[in-house]
Amino acid sequence: MDCIFCNIRDKEIPSSILFENEKAFAILDINPMNYGHVLLISKGHYSDILEIPENDLKEILSAVQLVSKALVDAFSLEGFNLVANKGEIAGQSIFHFHFHIIPRHKNDNINFVRNIKKYHENQFNKYADQIRNAIQSLK
Ligand code: 5GP
Ligand code: ZN
Repeated sequence: MDCIFCNIRDKEIPSSILFENEKAFAILDINPMNYGHVLLISKGHYSDILEIPENDLKEILSAVQLVSKALVDAFSLEGFNLVANKGEIAGQSIFHFHFHIIPRHKNDNINFVRNIKKYHENQFNKYADQIRNAIQSLK
């Protein structure tokens, strides 16, 4: 299996590691949506969020929080977007789990277009029930 992020983790591809802990590491995205766009990548090769062992989640999220704070401090950010794409349909192109941390500034011309949908009649409750039932089955 050839995976860019595994190769970067194993130093087979030279790259500038910004941070690492036992379960995650951070690098700059090579095609940034904004300057300082960071990829926070799991050390284990898991395709997406659904595959990450629960044991790894705490350290991955703590790395996300630390690097996000550092970005805010380093670039005086007003905010950032935290994104994890799951599946080709959602725009995932590398199937090794990662969060995008995308710095945001006023008038930075980055658009996540939202076409808002409306629930009609009982639809809202129906969706809520379907999700609650699915959660119940996972327990
Ligand atoms: P995805 O589309 O899977 O959510 O995100 C993959 C990201 O990895 C993309 O934003 C892409 O620019 C970035 N990327 C792809 N190849 C490389 C690489 O070799 N080095 C780095 N630093 N980023 C990469
Ligand atoms: Zn990998």
